[in-house]
Amino acid sequence: MKLHLYNSYKREKESFEPIRDGYVGLYTCGPTVYDYAHIGNFRTFIFEDLLKRWLIHLGYDVKHIMNITDVDDKTIKKANDESVALNIITDRYTSCFMEDLKWLKMIPADEFPRATDYIDKMISMIQTLLDKNFAYKDNDGSVYFDINSFQEYGCLTNLNIKGQKQTKRINDDEYEKDSPQDFALWKGWKKEDGDIVWNAPWGKGRPGWHIECSAMSIDALGDHFDIHCGGIDNMFPHHENEIAQSVCSTGKPFVNYWLHSEFLLVDGGKMSKSLGNYYTIKDLINKGFSAESIRYQLLSGHYRTKISFSINKKHESDKVVERVSDFHELLSQKIKKISLDNSLPQIYSDFSNAMNDDLNTPQALAIFFEWMKSESKKIKDNSLSSEEISSAWNFLNIFNSIFDFVKIESLIIPDKIKDMLNKRAKAREERDWSMSDKIRDSLKNAGWIVDDTPEGQKLKKI
Ligand code: AMP
Ligand code: ZN
Repeated sequence: MKLHLYNSYKREKESFEPIRDGYVGLYTCGPTVYDYAHIGNFRTFIFEDLLKRWLIHLGYDVKHIMNITDVDDKTIKKANDESVALNIITDRYTSCFMEDLKWLKMIPADEFPRATDYIDKMISMIQTLLDKNFAYKDNDGSVYFDINSFQEYGCLTNLNIKGQKQTKRINDDEYEKDSPQDFALWKGWKKEDGDIVWNAPWGKGRPGWHIECSAMSIDALGDHFDIHCGGIDNMFPHHENEIAQSVCSTGKPFVNYWLHSEFLLVDGGKMSKSLGNYYTIKDLINKGFSAESIRYQLLSGHYRTKISFSINKKHESDKVVERVSDFHELLSQKIKKISLDNSLPQIYSDFSNAMNDDLNTPQALAIFFEWMKSESKKIKDNSLSSEEISSAWNFLNIFNSIFDFVKIESLIIPDKIKDMLNKRAKAREERDWSMSDKIRDSLKNAGWIVDDTPEGQKLKKI
């Protein structure tokens, strides 16, 4: 099966055809750096990371751009609340975001453009929209996009604006779908903006949020590129407005495939600070979560369904990670004794079909886990041929290059524990089983579990 993706713009699954053979231009709306990113944001970012990894696995050369929204209503408000310069806020939360991204094992984008570095590009795009009569100036120095000037306005979100009377225009970055309005491309300077201001030919001010992504995506990927992603809440007004600005300024098609991930719920409900279920990555680290365990919770549901994150599911997700990691360890011992080839088990084609079917991760994971269970048993029974071991290893590595669930712990074993382990190995050589058991119990009391495997003693931290 060829790769099919659900295109929000067409409201159906479509076969994926890149604009240029073998190359994919991918733009994903990045964080607004006014606070720590939360686990809901990371649901979207990890879905985008998965999409990128699958495209790379299919052999595409992917150019991935993720912007950093470092000037908008929220960042300015935060800087004012803390009485500090805007970049103090945005530098702080950009570096926290980068740390979280690395910790979660996400592959960094090729570029992370910051909106404030692209103001000149935004100004020239707005000028083009003014010149082409898609936009108009307001008395306060703002510039608005005239949504009635663009026939296709509303196509992404299936919105019919015809017959609706536009009595207002909106200066805020976010508003509801039931009130489509002329939106701000440029916001004329106000007192609360302080020194956050740039000069444009029509007056001083700052860009609206939507023009930022149009300018940065087109600059990095060209007027017309393959895939644009975001969370479902980005569809309106953000992406609808991006389409309008981009198509009207360049006169060309903008994006071929729009992909949106559904919301993450926490314990079945909305995440909120007052309910105490608003989790940042640091919160989850403090609760003992591993990156792999979080990745499993976020990727085990299909990206277009709501999923619920739960602290109570930690045990279950830890177990899954442990099983995959043990399987990895088991196979890594086995492959030392064989020569590897490039073969794959037959089941790989089912796995690949599931992934090609709009990234059906629940199905792909079910296929992988069932296979892993039967393979583990066969390895323990010593009933796998060298060829089978090799193909199992290859499949596991492909799986892990997509999901990254394998936890490879580099254990730092204290000298005292190493001595005990050596004494136990000696006792076992001498078939002194009672001494061996005694040392095993002492190791357990010291916080270490020892397993006896055909390859020798294996230590785990309790
Ligand atoms: P923001 O930092 O608010 O610009 O959001 C960054 C990304 O996270 C956007 O793509 C949002 O659509 C997405 N997002 C925000 N909240 C959630 C949530 N609860 N579940 C999934 N995605 C979300
Ligand atoms: Zn965006």
